[in-house]
Amino acid sequence: MIMKSFLVLAATGNAFLDTLNKILGIVVGFLVAFVVIFWISLIIWTFRDIRSRTQDLLSQILATLLVAVFFIGGLFIYMILRPRQTLAEIYERQLEEESLLAEMTERQTCNNCHARVETDLQICPSCGQQLKRPCPKCERLLELRWSFCPYCATNLAPGPMQSMAGMPIMQPIPGQGAPMSGQLGQRY
Ligand SMILES: [Zn+2]
Ligand SMILES: [Zn+2]
Repeated sequence: MIMKSFLVLAATGNAFLDTLNKILGIVVGFLVAFVVIFWISLIIWTFRDIRSRTQDLLSQILATLLVAVFFIGGLFIYMILRPRQTLAEIYERQLEEESLLAEMTERQTCNNCHARVETDLQICPSCGQQLKRPCPKCERLLELRWSFCPYCATNLAPGPMQSMAGMPIMQPIPGQGAPMSGQLGQRY
């Protein structure tokens, strides 16, 4: 009677171990499956990421292989070495720079005090630096470096030579030259 009950106990014990083994097997199976799926996703992620950052095929292959071989360690190395900007970011930045450049060339700045000035001003409103001069014939505003008026084809050759000599006061600016000399006269 005692022997029989012991055998039953042993049998139930064996059955318990069996189920424990089965559960462990299932858990390990899930873990392995998870790790494999994780590994594959990392490889896919790396491949997509490197493709958005470089068009160089060799770099793409190397980065993907790095993660495929070294798993998470490879991912760390990849994160350290990968190009900082994606191609889309670089493209966006180029567009921004180009538009900024276009804006800068569109908007003139005073070459004396670097204040922004409108294109149709004769002198800088901040420092009085001469920016343009009127054509003596058609009175349209011309760049100081121009030798000819592009509007009425007047030859301005003697004009710019004087301004090149660095004597802006000598420039014939009606309404400005007179008060200046008046002030000077009062001071003397
Ligand atoms: Zn200025
Ligand atoms: Zn003109």
